[in-house]
Amino acid sequence: MKLSKRANRIEPSLTRKLYDMAKSYDDVVDFTLGDPDYETPDRIKEAGCRAIREGRTKYSENAGVLELRKVIAGAIAEETGIQYDPAKEIQITVGAMEALFLTLACMIDPGDEVIIPSPYWVNYKHMVDFLGGKAVLVDVLEENDFVLTPEDFRNAITDKTVAVIINSPNNPTGAVYGREALEGISDIVKKNNLTIIWDECYKSLLYDGAQYVSILDFPDMKDYSIVINSCSKKFSMTGWRLGYLAGPAAFVENLPKIQENVAACAGVPSQYAAIEAFKGEDDTPNLMRDGFEKRRNTLIAEIRKIDKLSVKSPKGTFYALVNIKETGLKSEEFAYKLLESQKVAVVPGITYGDACEGYIRIAFTMNEEKIIEGVRRIRQFVESL
Ligand code: PLP
Repeated sequence: MKLSKRANRIEPSLTRKLYDMAKSYDDVVDFTLGDPDYETPDRIKEAGCRAIREGRTKYSENAGVLELRKVIAGAIAEETGIQYDPAKEIQITVGAMEALFLTLACMIDPGDEVIIPSPYWVNYKHMVDFLGGKAVLVDVLEENDFVLTPEDFRNAITDKTVAVIINSPNNPTGAVYGREALEGISDIVKKNNLTIIWDECYKSLLYDGAQYVSILDFPDMKDYSIVINSCSKKFSMTGWRLGYLAGPAAFVENLPKIQENVAACAGVPSQYAAIEAFKGEDDTPNLMRDGFEKRRNTLIAEIRKIDKLSVKSPKGTFYALVNIKETGLKSEEFAYKLLESQKVAVVPGITYGDACEGYIRIAFTMNEEKIIEGVRRIRQFVESL
C-alpha cells in the first residue's frame, strides 16, 4: 500500500523506543514516560462513570461541551484575570496533543516557520514537519537555565516566521520561564505580529514555592497567544485524553471546522469528568506536587553522588536532564548499555534535538524507593565504564 511522504518523514521517538525495549526486561526501573503513577482522584472517576450511566455517550459540539468550556474560562479568569468567551474562545481537545495539532493545522501554510527552543518536546517538531511547516530550532543552553533568550529569539525570526512554541515548565529540561525573559519575548512577539503557542501542561508542577508566570500576565498578550493545557498532569488523567486551548475568537472560531474532520470531539464522558476535576474540591494536585518535589529532591541528591554525572535541579515538571558528557558516551549508547547491563531505562537526550546530546532524561514518576534503586544501578553502570 502506498505511504505518503509525510508518513515516511516522521520518525518514532526514542522515548517510546526505550519504553518498549524496557518492557522485555523483568525487574526493570523504567524512567522513560511522563505518566504519573498517582491515580485519578475518585470523585473524577465517579463523574466519568456517572456520565456513562446517565447516557452521556453521544457526540458533543465540535468545540466541546459548553459547560466545560465555561468552567475552563472561569478557571483561567481566576488564575490570570483574563476573560475568554466560552462560546468562541475555548476549544476542548483530545489531550493537549490535539490542541497543539489543531492550532498548528489552523495556522501553518507550507513553508511557514515555527520557532522551537531546543531541547524540545519531540512532538512539536514532528507536528510542524507533518503539516508542511519548517521547525526552526534555537538552542537554549544549560548556562542560561535552558531558557530562550530574547536576543536568540529575535535573531531566529525571518519573514516566514508565524509562531514560537514555549513550554513552561518545560519537558524535557524542567526549566521555568521567569518574568524578565517573558517580557522580552512577548515584546518581540507583538512587534513582529507573531503568535506564541504557550504550552502550560505542567503548570501545576512548580517547586520551591515558585509563583507561575503566565504569558497572559503581559499587556495585550491574549491577542497574540494560544494557551494550551490539559487534565493529564494536573489531575493525573493522561488516559482520559482531555485537553483544551484558549485564544482570540477570530482564530479559535475556526477550530471546530478542523475538529469536525479530526476527532469530532473529545470523549464525552471524559469531558464530564473534567467538569468535576475543575469544579470539585480536593487537594490532590497540591499533594501530587508535594510528592513530586520530594522525589525530585531525592533523585537530584542521589545523582549528584555519582562522579562524571551532573544535574540542574528542575524547577518544575517531573523530568530531570542529567549531563553525561564526562562519561564520553553518546546519549543513545549510554541508554542502551545501561538498559542491557543494569535494567534501567532512560531516554537518550538526542531525541530532543542535537542540543540535548550529552544528556539523558529521567522521569521521576515512581516512588522514592524505586528512584533510589534506579540511581544505585546507574551509579554501578557509570563506575564500570
Ligand atoms: N506538551 C508537553 C510538553 C508534554 O510533555 C505533553 C505530554 O507529555 C503534552 C503536551 C501532551 O499532553 P496530553 O496530550 O496528555 O494532554
